[in-house]
Amino acid sequence: MNVLVINAGSSSLKYQLMNVETQEILAIGICEKVGSGDSFHKYGLGDAERLDETPLKDHDEAMALVIEALVDGPAKAVGSLSEIDAVGHRVVQGGQHYPVSTVIDEEAIEKITELSVLAPLHNPPALMGIHACRKHMPGVPMVAVFDTSFFQTLEPKAYMYPLPYELYEKHGVRKYGMHGTSHRYVSERAADVLGIPYGKARVITLHLGNGCSASAVKEGIAVDTSMGLTPLDGLMMGTRCGAIDPAIVPFVMECEGLDTNGVNNLMNKKSGLLGISGVSNDLRSVQEAAEAGNGRAALAIDMYAKAVKKYVGIYLAVMGGADGIVFTAGIGENSAMMREKILEGLEGLGIVLDAGKNALRGGERFISADDSPVKVMVIPTNEEYMIARDTFDLVSALSK
Ligand code: ADP
Repeated sequence: MNVLVINAGSSSLKYQLMNVETQEILAIGICEKVGSGDSFHKYGLGDAERLDETPLKDHDEAMALVIEALVDGPAKAVGSLSEIDAVGHRVVQGGQHYPVSTVIDEEAIEKITELSVLAPLHNPPALMGIHACRKHMPGVPMVAVFDTSFFQTLEPKAYMYPLPYELYEKHGVRKYGMHGTSHRYVSERAADVLGIPYGKARVITLHLGNGCSASAVKEGIAVDTSMGLTPLDGLMMGTRCGAIDPAIVPFVMECEGLDTNGVNNLMNKKSGLLGISGVSNDLRSVQEAAEAGNGRAALAIDMYAKAVKKYVGIYLAVMGGADGIVFTAGIGENSAMMREKILEGLEGLGIVLDAGKNALRGGERFISADDSPVKVMVIPTNEEYMIARDTFDLVSALSK
């Protein structure tokens, strides 16, 4: 089955066409700056990457362009539209309604629209992608895979905030978690790599990209995670502050004269690695600056590592230990320096890194010492595969 995986952001449309049975990627691409005059389409596999500058008014136009590229043109992947069997959409917020992925029908569209209250920046673009696909690929079954589903197994003591209970009842104020598709994929792979059945493994998963989150996966289910009602909570990130004293919010609003938009912008776009270093949200640039003697860049790196280290400790306590710790996403997969800083000094907790293995690059691999009681792994994430797999499972069941 060929599944087109769509990840629609506010001004982007990312896609991948995958044969689920063979896991072969048939096409890959992204439309960026959709809605502006300088939008472009970057596509093609490996060295054959192409870039077309094309004005794209909206997601509808972007989707039409993507389909044209898939069935026609220099990087065409299939002979005709009929060779695309299903579409899987990444949707950020599924609320309490979606503990698992779902086939997209009228009811699902209504529900995802309602859930936009909880994810005003993320669900509306996903809906634009869904509507565009419905228009350009009528009759092709579609599935929504939610970032939050994996964390619907959290118990109330893990997902409730110590605020008046009515806020949960009236407005759904609780922890939902994000990056669930990634945490699910890497925790499953970790159990496999460790040779422990998923239902018996205790894994700490660290998704460290521009957005960062940690989670505790015990016996095949998520028991805790660092992101909350929104993706702002938890770890320090590229531009987001993560967990801070909540009283800072009204204090800063007052002394800086900010309204809710202003303070949201400050915490989401101007904080984290960027806010502390003043250099960049990109760890590579921050590291370069630190190595050149920039003290604030060095501080940003130390703070980032300490935030992750604290969550490792929290989740060891939450699960009463761990069989494995997984690093994934841009920083987790690529920064040996950051992995070392995060885990240094944790030998007493049974976490012993092998500096030589940590310095090597590659795919799925162990980076802990052979005798480390807790195994440490790097596992490249593959959210697209999970979306394609869920789509395959649900669409196959439809035809039975
Ligand atoms: P997103 O959350 O946008 O998908 P990524 O998972 O691509 O982000 O992660 C982006 C982060 O990964 C950036 O901070 C970037 O600096 C970092 N990164 C990517 N490659 C490397 C590398 N080789 N060394 C250090 N950091 C890296």
